[in-house]
Amino acid sequence: MTGSAQLLKALEYASHRHRTQKRKGTRNIPFINHPIQVASLLANEGGETDPVLLTAAVLHDVIEDTVNSAEERTELMNEISGIFGDEILALTMEVTDDKTLEKKVRKQLQVEHANNKSLRAKKLKIADKITNLRDIIIDPPGWWSNDRILEYISWAEQVFEGLKGVNPVLEDIFRKTVAEARFKYMSQSAEN
Ligand code: ZN
Repeated sequence: MTGSAQLLKALEYASHRHRTQKRKGTRNIPFINHPIQVASLLANEGGETDPVLLTAAVLHDVIEDTVNSAEERTELMNEISGIFGDEILALTMEVTDDKTLEKKVRKQLQVEHANNKSLRAKKLKIADKITNLRDIIIDPPGWWSNDRILEYISWAEQVFEGLKGVNPVLEDIFRKTVAEARFKYMSQSAEN
């Protein structure tokens, strides 16, 4: 497959896998918007052209968010490897949390493991975090308190510490997005 054929295949595949899911905000946004934004951010703002990176960006939440059992996970991994190859599968796995672990543990592991990731995985994770922060600025999950949002921002920064050094443009965007998010929710905290 050429790069663009593979990317289109990934879009088709991910949109099917995520077809019933919505983002966590209150605006009923289809989940697939998120991986598309991550891939587009890497390419159009980060200047990344690597087809493996961009395809894995489209697929990055498929394993984490669309399987419910270890069997399903293995099945899906085999399928992704069959369609997209082992390199794209490996990169997707590198940015996939182990959902059998508690959320608190997963978040801690993201901080601890960030620095050991491959170059591509670091770029993908920075773009993922920027996209999540942008969503939080525009449309945070309705049940999140201000403190919870501020906690999320600090956690994203901790993960970022281990990721930086791979794409200065994206890193600059990350820092600006963090500042914008913190400004918005700090000032809301002050009002309360
Ligand atoms: Zn994501």
